[in-house]
Amino acid sequence: MIVILKPDADKKSTAYRRLSDYLAQLPNIKCRVHEEVGTQQTLTEIYLVGDTSTLDRKEIEAFEVVDRVVRVSREYRVLGRHKDDTRAGGFEYNGVTFSQDNFHVFAGLCAVSTREHVEQMCRALKAHGQVCTRMGAYKPRTNPYAFQGHGKNCLPYVFELAGKYGIKVVAMEITHDAHIAEISEALERAGNPTGVMLQIGTRNTQNFELLKSAGRQRRFPILLKRGFGITLEESLNAAEYLASEGNRNVIFCLRGMKTNMGDPHRNLVDFAHVPVVKRLTHMPVCIDPSHSVGSRAAAPDGIPDLFHVTAQGVIAGANMVLVDFHPEPAKALVDGPQALTLEELPWFLEDVKLVRDTYERRRKLVKS
Ligand code: PEP
Ligand code: MN
Repeated sequence: MIVILKPDADKKSTAYRRLSDYLAQLPNIKCRVHEEVGTQQTLTEIYLVGDTSTLDRKEIEAFEVVDRVVRVSREYRVLGRHKDDTRAGGFEYNGVTFSQDNFHVFAGLCAVSTREHVEQMCRALKAHGQVCTRMGAYKPRTNPYAFQGHGKNCLPYVFELAGKYGIKVVAMEITHDAHIAEISEALERAGNPTGVMLQIGTRNTQNFELLKSAGRQRRFPILLKRGFGITLEESLNAAEYLASEGNRNVIFCLRGMKTNMGDPHRNLVDFAHVPVVKRLTHMPVCIDPSHSVGSRAAAPDGIPDLFHVTAQGVIAGANMVLVDFHPEPAKALVDGPQALTLEELPWFLEDVKLVRDTYERRRKLVKS
C-alpha cells in the first residue's frame, strides 16, 4: 500500500506525527518513506510493507496530511502502475524532462574512440538542435581481448566537449559501481558542464549488486536495458531494484532479444512491448534500434532496417531512442557496422519526427 502525502507535507507538524504514530502501531507493517525533492515541491510517499490486506484505505485517507492511498496491485511497487494509481510519472534531470508523454533522441558513439570523433559528434548534434547523446566509456565485451573502452581517461574531454556543444545529458554505460564515483568526480573536476544518465546494459540487467549501487545514488538517472535472455517481468523487477533502493528516475530500454529467430538481425526486435511497459509501469520507455538490428542493411525502398525498426517503436509511443552514430564508422572501435553516419543524422531525425507526429495524431484519435 502506498500512502501519498499532500505536497510539501511538513515532517515536523502535528498532523504528520499523528499519521506516523498511527502507522507505527499497525501490527506486522513496516513503513518506508520516500521523498522526492523537486524544484517546485517535495513529494512524500510512505510504502507500507507487510500484511496490508486488512488495512482500511479510507481510514488512512482521513488523515489531514494524506492526499490519497493506492493499493499495490503489482509486484513492481514503486515503478508499477497500480489500480486507481494516478501518480504522475517522469522526472526532470539537468533541465531535460523525461516522461511517458514526451520524446528524446540520444544519438551518439557506442564507444568513445577519439577526442576528435567526440567533438565531431557533439558538433553535429548541436547543429541539429539535439541536447542528448550517448558516449560509451566502459564497454562490456564478449571477448576479453577486445577493446574495453577508454574508461575514465576519456571522461574529461567527453564532458568538456558535451558542455561546449550544449549537451545536457550523456547516456553512459557503467559495468561496475566504481564507475559511478569516477563519473561523479570527472564531472566535478570539469565543473559539471553536462549531465550523465547511467546506463546498465543487457549483460548486467540482473547484476543485483550493481543495481543496488546505482539505485542507492540519487544524483544520476538510470537507463536500464532489458535483459536479452530473460522475461519482460524479470527485467521490470530489475528496474524495481533501482527504485526500491531510492532512485526512481529510471528509463526502461528495449534492445531486442537474443535468439536466432531474429536472424539476420542481431537480435529479435521486441518493440511491440513499448505499450506493455507503459501500461505496467510509470517508466518512460526507450528503444535501441542499433543493438537490435546490428547492421546498416536497407530494404529495397532505400530505407535502412534501423530506420524501419525505430519507426516501429516510435509509432507505438516510445519516449526515447538510443542510437549509434559515428563520424567514421570504419574507424569505430566498437559496433562500427551498425553505426549511422553524421551525414545521415538529419535524415534520421526527420524520419523519427514524422513517425512521432503520427503517434501524437494516433493519440488524438483515441480522445475524439
Ligand atoms: C550499448 O548500448 O552500447 C550496449 C552494449 O548495449 P546492450 O547492453 O543493449 O548490448
Ligand atoms: Mn554497442
